[in-house]
Amino acid sequence: MLDFHEKKHILVVEDDPNVANLIRVVLSKKEMQVSIASNGLEALSFLKSQYSDIIISDIMMPKMDGYALREALLKEEDLRTIPFIFLSAKDQTKDIVKGMEYDVETYIPKPFDPEILVAKVSAILRKYDRINKLLLYDTLTNVFNRRTLEFRLSNELKRVSRYHQSLSIIMADLDHFKKINDKYGHDFGDVVLKSVASLFKEELRDTDFVGRVGGEEFVLVLPNTDKEAGLFVANRMRSRVEAYTFKYSQVTFSGGVATAPEDGVEMKTLLKKADQAMYRAKENGRNQIVSF
Ligand SMILES: [Mg+2]
Repeated sequence: MLDFHEKKHILVVEDDPNVANLIRVVLSKKEMQVSIASNGLEALSFLKSQYSDIIISDIMMPKMDGYALREALLKEEDLRTIPFIFLSAKDQTKDIVKGMEYDVETYIPKPFDPEILVAKVSAILRKYDRINKLLLYDTLTNVFNRRTLEFRLSNELKRVSRYHQSLSIIMADLDHFKKINDKYGHDFGDVVLKSVASLFKEELRDTDFVGRVGGEEFVLVLPNTDKEAGLFVANRMRSRVEAYTFKYSQVTFSGGVATAPEDGVEMKTLLKKADQAMYRAKENGRNQIVSF
């Protein structure tokens, strides 16, 4: 759930294939990608491996009904925040009141008007985009905040262990940032942070990501990248920032590179080693990259 997708992923949990298909057809017209599970158990196993932006669930289903599914999801930290809608033939006031007690976004009784379903789903997705933007991103630089960066990095590291891939991280800390702030003011300091974040983003490939983890400190994550390639990318970024023309002052950063699995597969270890390498870059005179 910690991501934005142009195309939204919808999970429909419904044991009646005709209803499921009707929902698929109307939502697909709105550029949404629809997956179908035919009961709560199937939905849970789907969500273990796949991402979903919203869940639309029937209540009366074999094996695991909608109430039990919702209860199970509310117990999972990763899954409880996915917006959830009940869509059910239980259409009495007491049914709807009971359904809403499961902290669902809305309750749509059957038979339903497909146009209203699409409108409600779209409104909920827009609302969550706004909330997620606030929760996941650093508001100044528009890159991931620390929490998101760590969540995404720990997920990537699981993949490193599972598929025997490599992954490099770059710890990048702006040089003399305090002096820049003191001398030219915080507005200029903010411009520097925003511009450097943009330069980083321009240099990253689609699968890479970057987060601001401290005042003037960024972590860049490069999946499927060994140490040599990580150093290459870090040095390219270093030159790019060094060459960029800021209004008042040149800006540089010092970078430390650590690579999984050789430097460790635990997130904390890897961040610590990248940090140590970055401090060596500072000690060696700044504006350079050091690998652990
Ligand atoms: Mg049913």
